Parts: sequence; structure tokens; C-alpha cells
Amino acid sequence: MKRVKILVLFAFFIFLFSFSLYAQQSLKPKNIILMIGDGMGLAQISAGKTYKGNLNLEKFKVVGLLTTNSCDEYITDSAAGATAMSTGYKTKNVAIGIDCDGERRETVLEYANKIGKATGIVVVCAITHATPAAFVAHVPDRNMQIKIAEQIAKEANADLYLGGGWGWFLPKSKGGKREDGQDLIDTMRRRGYYFISKPEEFYNFNFDKAGKVIGLFAENHPPYAPNRKPTLSEMTKKAIEFLSRDKDGFFLMVEGSQIDWAGHANDSEQILKEMADFDEAIGVALEFAQKDGNTLVIVTADHETGGYAIVGGSVEEKKVEGKFVTKNHTGIMVPVFAFGPGAEAFAGFGDNTLIGKKIFEYLKK
Ligand SMILES: [Zn+2]
Repeated sequence: MKRVKILVLFAFFIFLFSFSLYAQQSLKPKNIILMIGDGMGLAQISAGKTYKGNLNLEKFKVVGLLTTNSCDEYITDSAAGATAMSTGYKTKNVAIGIDCDGERRETVLEYANKIGKATGIVVVCAITHATPAAFVAHVPDRNMQIKIAEQIAKEANADLYLGGGWGWFLPKSKGGKREDGQDLIDTMRRRGYYFISKPEEFYNFNFDKAGKVIGLFAENHPPYAPNRKPTLSEMTKKAIEFLSRDKDGFFLMVEGSQIDWAGHANDSEQILKEMADFDEAIGVALEFAQKDGNTLVIVTADHETGGYAIVGGSVEEKKVEGKFVTKNHTGIMVPVFAFGPGAEAFAGFGDNTLIGKKIFEYLKK
């Protein structure tokens, strides 16, 4: 009799276990956080691990590899890479939010907005720069930052922007870059955005009272890590607090923007610092997702930068000897890490358009 009881109990637990696995797999994420390490290849991650000891990235159990080619170049740039992820469509290098034929394509952020989710962008570059722009703007050339700022100010509907680049929004008479005389910060204020531009304002700002916020803490790009205030992880934490108030869920894009620049500069030391900074932000997102249970976190890169290789180093001394084969991007596949409901779709081989396609699929479910 005792044995029967144990067997029944055992069967019950097996049932519970498989049910929870099933539920985990079939659940649609309520919140999606997409984190892009610009220029982050496997060597950058390896270097970051050596420097930091343990990476938050290591907590992800679903890992895949993505091809990144654009429709006109073997080696993508950030504009085409981000557009593949934001729309699910390939495009030509330098193009933002349009497909290979120049057709405007809806972005996952725009769609998330449309269905009532809160949306946000957190970067450590100007928000008019290629990666963030690909989520909120549609232009044939990433260098049209004057136009991108105008689209952000007048057409885009993200609830929160944190990063740099106020110069693109203000006329020359107010210290900005615009020659058309427009004060787009004023335009955004009239559309209900609170504008903050100083670190103290960020730390003291009562985000609860605001419906929409644009926080730009540099005239163009914020400085290299660790000289940034606020940091990427501080902004990510605030963004998650702010956006998670929406009962319909949220979509947030976070970019470790300057891993790429350290690659272009062939600066191995700086890659370590930018990787550590990005990984802190990953930790913030992951902690929220673990507690929340309804949040999908995807971490990936748009391309690798520098042809970075590690040719020596020391785990004890937390240092690496890095070498570079180029000052540009390379065509090597990039890793993707996923955690939370829907994560398993990113396991194995894929293409960077998978990111956009899957996010759309989850939003539309
Ligand atoms: Zn680059």
C-alpha cells in the first residue's frame, strides 16, 4: 500500500513537472527586453568574462548563432543589422526601418505601441544613431540624423528614451546642431514628454509622475565607460521600473552601444570596460525577468567589430591580450542568448531577421 502511495505521488510530481515545462514553453511573454551589444562577438564576450570573472550572460540557458549579412553587403553595418532585428526584414547597409526595396517597414516597437504596450529605448549613444533609430525611424541613410530626430519628435511614440544626442533636437541658437531653427524638444514637450538632460535630474526625477520621458545626457554621444552618468545599468533599471507600470506589458530595447567603438578603435582595454558595463545592464534585466516570470530577455549583437581575437591572457590577473585584424566590422556569426517564455525559439542556427520575426510573432499571439 505504501509503495502504491509513493508511486501515485511520484506520478503526480512527474505530471506537475511536465506541465510546468509545457506551460513555460507555450507561454507568450508579456514583456520583451531586447539587448543589443553593438559589435559584440564571442571574443568580446570571452574578454568580458576574463575581466569580470562571472558574467550575467552565463545565466542564460538558451544560446544560438545568427548570420548577419545585409541585402547588399556580406558584412553588415549597424543600420541594416538593427533593421533586421527591429522589422524582421533585411535591408541595405546604412538604411533604417525600410526593406531592401526601400519600402517602409513597421518596427516591433511601433507595433508594441499600437497594441497598448509601453515602449522604451535605452542606449549609450545619441538616440538618433543607427541602432536606436532603426526602432523608431524610417530613412534611407543613417546619416540623416537631423531627419531621424524630427521623426522621433513628431511621429514616433515610444514612452521613454534614455541616452544622448540632445544636439540633434535643438537649433543652433540654443546650442544644438539644427540649422532649420526647429526646437524639437519643445515639440516633444507639447506631445507630453518630460525632458531631462542632467545626471542629477535623472537621479532625482520622479518617473512616477511622468507619462513620457526623454532623457538625453550628452549633446551627442555619452563618454566611454566607466565615465558615463547615468550608467547603462542605472538607465535600464529605471526604464524597467517605468515601463512595467503598464498592465499591458512593455517592449524595451537596450544597447551597449560603445563595444563597437572600442572595436573600431582596436582598443582591447576599452572592450573589457564596455563589456562589463553592458553585462551589468544584462544583470538588471535578468533579475527583473526572473522575478516577473512573464518577461523574455534576448541578448544579441548586430555584428562583430575589429576581427578581435584573444591570443593570450590570464584568468588570475583578469586580463587578455587582444589582437585585431580590421578597424571595421566582420562577417562572423553573432551569438544570441534568451531567457524567459519563448526563449527556446532562439536556440541553434538562425538569421538576424529571426529576432524581429519572433518578437512580432509573440506580440501578435
Ligand atoms: Zn560599427
